[in-house]
Amino acid sequence: MNIIIFGPPGAGKGTQSEFIVKKFNLFKLSTGDLLREEINKETSLGLKITSIVNSGSLVSDDIINSLIENIVSNQTYKNKIIFDGYPRNLPQAENLNKLLLKYDQRIDIVIRLKVSLNVIKKRITGRVICSKCGKTFNEFFNPPKDNEKCCKKEFLQKRDDDNVDVAIKRFETYENSTEPVLDFYKKMNLVKDVNGEIDIESIYSKINDYLSVIEG
Ligand code: ADP
Ligand code: ZN
Repeated sequence: MNIIIFGPPGAGKGTQSEFIVKKFNLFKLSTGDLLREEINKETSLGLKITSIVNSGSLVSDDIINSLIENIVSNQTYKNKIIFDGYPRNLPQAENLNKLLLKYDQRIDIVIRLKVSLNVIKKRITGRVICSKCGKTFNEFFNPPKDNEKCCKKEFLQKRDDDNVDVAIKRFETYENSTEPVLDFYKKMNLVKDVNGEIDIESIYSKINDYLSVIEG
């Protein structure tokens, strides 16, 4: 099964995909993570995109598309991908469809997490990520447990782009460019809405219900 998890930045996509990946044995493809990896490693691509990403804008489709084909063409990940934060606009969605067809795959479901800007602002300012394993936490809503094996306080980092102003900009970018993407998948009858403002376990339970039907 291939899944798209959809929603504004800070909606909880990364948090939920972690659960989904574990339970259904999937590979998480986060273009945000792929891009941040390039930035942190200071590759030539990374240097090119640092300021674009940190200002909350979108990176060119060509760059994203080649990052995506690397994964979709890999047999190891065939029908085992959860797309997190991609596609962001119609051309990307169309390109993904072409790529999936080329490699004999398809999208089975699009989970849309619905969250308002006000809630997003609170979540973004508290977001911290473990620099060892990449797990996402929240200082206010979802701090690491005391007995956590890996994610100790000293490893937790804020993202450079996680401040309220950038959050608002990213939210607007999302609103403006992603509506056509949703329509694209609605026409294919793939979109399931999930309220993303409730607690993490309850959200996951709803998602799990949908996915179990597909896997069943
Ligand atoms: P995204 O991947 O959509 O950008 P994240 O999964 O990184 O979002 O979540 C954004 C922030 O909100 C993180 O700090 C996370 O711990 C927190 N968070 C995620 N889901 C919830 C929730 N249901 N309730 C409260 N906080 C949440
Ligand atoms: Zn960790």
